[in-house]
Amino acid sequence: MSSSDCLKRLIQALRCLPGVGPKSAQRMAFYLLQHDRQGARQLAKVLDEALEKVRRCRSCRNFTEAPICAICLDPRREQSKLCVVESPADAWAIEQTGVFRGVFFILHGRLSPLDGIGPEDLGLDELERRLQEGEIKELILATNSTVEGEATAHYLAELARGAGVRVSRIAYGVPVGGELEYLDAHTLAYAFEGRRPV
Ligand code: ZN
Repeated sequence: MSSSDCLKRLIQALRCLPGVGPKSAQRMAFYLLQHDRQGARQLAKVLDEALEKVRRCRSCRNFTEAPICAICLDPRREQSKLCVVESPADAWAIEQTGVFRGVFFILHGRLSPLDGIGPEDLGLDELERRLQEGEIKELILATNSTVEGEATAHYLAELARGAGVRVSRIAYGVPVGGELEYLDAHTLAYAFEGRRPV
């Protein structure tokens, strides 16, 4: 089978998606060109638009089109309760449970010295500053239950202690090695309500 340069580049580009290997990328490219050219055009358009408009909230680092996101601006949310998660997908999963009425801080990663990811890459200097300011009364650690997620939680707990802020860790029902965004809402809500002081 011969394929054009353009087609090769499309297949290569699709491989940037998580879990997409050469075979799947090939299948997707052929599908889009053969069966859904309009869908493909729409995908290209909204992808471009999202890249142009979606930024990080200045306060919580969640994805938003505004300088400050809707959650941070919502007067009904308790600004004194700050929940730290690794990714916007995790914050989204917690939002779906409806149990949390505080605000978030999104790391966009986890501490990983081997990959060269340190505190400043996760905005922890900014978080430390906010903890010192005194408005935050409880820091809830909802990083993943993986080795790196636990190490990050440990680091955050030390930051909170240093600032005299109460700190808790979600634990109940979260499987060891588990990633938050894949938990069902029930388990996650339970994990939240069963959070323990650390
Ligand atoms: Zn925000």
